[in-house]
Amino acid sequence: MSELPVTPQSGALIGDRWRETAETLEVLRPSSGQVIARIARCSGEEIDAAVAAARAAFSGELGNWSRFSARCRGEWLYAFADAIDADADNLAALECADTGKPISQARGDIAACARYFRFYAGAADKLHGETIPYESEYAVMTLREPWGVCAQIIPWNYPAQIFGRCVAAALAAGNTCVLKPAEDACLSVLRLAELAVRSGLPEGALNVVPGLGREAGALLAAHSDIDHLSFTGSPQTGTLVAQSCAEHHVPVTMELGGKSPQLVFADADMDAALDAVVRGIIQNAGQTCSAGSRLLVEASVYSTVVERLQQRFEALRCDAGERDPDCGALINARQRDKVKALIDAAVADGIEVAARGQLAESAPEDGCFVVPHLLTQIPEGHVVSREELFGPVLAVQSFADEADAIRLANATDFGLCAGVWTRDGGRQLRLARAIRSGQVFVNNYGAAGGVELPFGGVGRSGHGREKGFEGLKSYTRLKTVAIRHG
Ligand code: NAD
Repeated sequence: MSELPVTPQSGALIGDRWRETAETLEVLRPSSGQVIARIARCSGEEIDAAVAAARAAFSGELGNWSRFSARCRGEWLYAFADAIDADADNLAALECADTGKPISQARGDIAACARYFRFYAGAADKLHGETIPYESEYAVMTLREPWGVCAQIIPWNYPAQIFGRCVAAALAAGNTCVLKPAEDACLSVLRLAELAVRSGLPEGALNVVPGLGREAGALLAAHSDIDHLSFTGSPQTGTLVAQSCAEHHVPVTMELGGKSPQLVFADADMDAALDAVVRGIIQNAGQTCSAGSRLLVEASVYSTVVERLQQRFEALRCDAGERDPDCGALINARQRDKVKALIDAAVADGIEVAARGQLAESAPEDGCFVVPHLLTQIPEGHVVSREELFGPVLAVQSFADEADAIRLANATDFGLCAGVWTRDGGRQLRLARAIRSGQVFVNNYGAAGGVELPFGGVGRSGHGREKGFEGLKSYTRLKTVAIRHG
């Protein structure tokens, strides 16, 4: 297996210095189990120092970020996007080695990261307040102000993309950041932070504190001197983080999990629909918040659809990400064993494995692989149709009519994404309204991941929005100013 193209930083970025910690954590390559790096294990001392650096940078005591106009912030973000593009090969190789995802997906993630910086660079000086007509002796306006110190806790499945969407928006709006990446995958984030410093980001504007969730993450969420927290991760951890933030009345954005349905009606463009259904569940080996992990098919075409999917699933190959397979490794042995156990339990409950993909002969023996599984004969309400498995496992059910499709689509506490495949214009709109989720994609799934599109959940999928212009607004608070001029 190829070595890493560059050696990532092993410390925490605090101010403009990389600080080593007394203890470190091993980073394993998911496709082989081999140790590829060591990262910092931050404790209270580093978290306090990072928050203090971000506070000082926001208040103007450190660096000159607080003196940058919106236009200057945008210019820095543009320059940083260019630096990401220039280092894209290294970043993609790190992301591939660290997460196990296919190299082409890792390249796409790095390109998306640079796009976030460009989008928010252009948006930085377009964040307007409003003037509000009121009594004649008043002038009333709203100002959009940065929160101040923004904490960000992010997961391992899309480290570079999520870094891009949180950090670019927060900096564009004039905040400073303290980011806690996931212990399971953060090498691209450490490289991005190194590039940010080299690109002339003023001291303290971005601080990165790797470490364990229950230590560094919990300490950051409970810190009394943060002004906003954006959390992306599991609903269980999201609850703990939200509780900590509530202690200090810190506002939160919660981007949590999903159990997103794809609904295929008999009149759909079947080739396009089934391509998207397969992509929607094997992307990142199913470890995607927006994975289309449930397929709901109109009863009249159910058998044909299952048959066509069987062929597609059986052709799927799993291998090390560097070989750019259809499906890479899962993030670690714990996640692999969890997904396998859930499949075994489903089979014990009478659920049928209608098809499965294959492990390539070249796949390393100790890799954390789970081949894609197509599950059918699912009793209503079964855990595989309600809970996030976070693996390449597609649960297929059939529906009788439109009302039944809506009922099944909404039969989960999650509400992140839905795909609707039909040529009927009226039905497209009815379903877009009736499905309880943050995003509904009609005759596509994911809208090609557009950074311009607001994204977020309802129910157990979270609240608040990241991405797009809404995401930028989430990194500001609104102030109303009423001037009585007589
Ligand atoms: P996780 O909740 O285990 O970890 C997420 C982050 O929280 C990590 O940085 C982790 O170190 C930290 N953490 C863990 N325990 C903590 C604690 N007690 N206090 C503070 N921080 C703590 O989630 P994960 O397994 O890394 O990611 C998978 C989950 O993320 C899935 O549920 C997935 O759907 C969700 N996700 C959501 C989105 C979205 O945009 N909605 C995007 C990607 C992933």
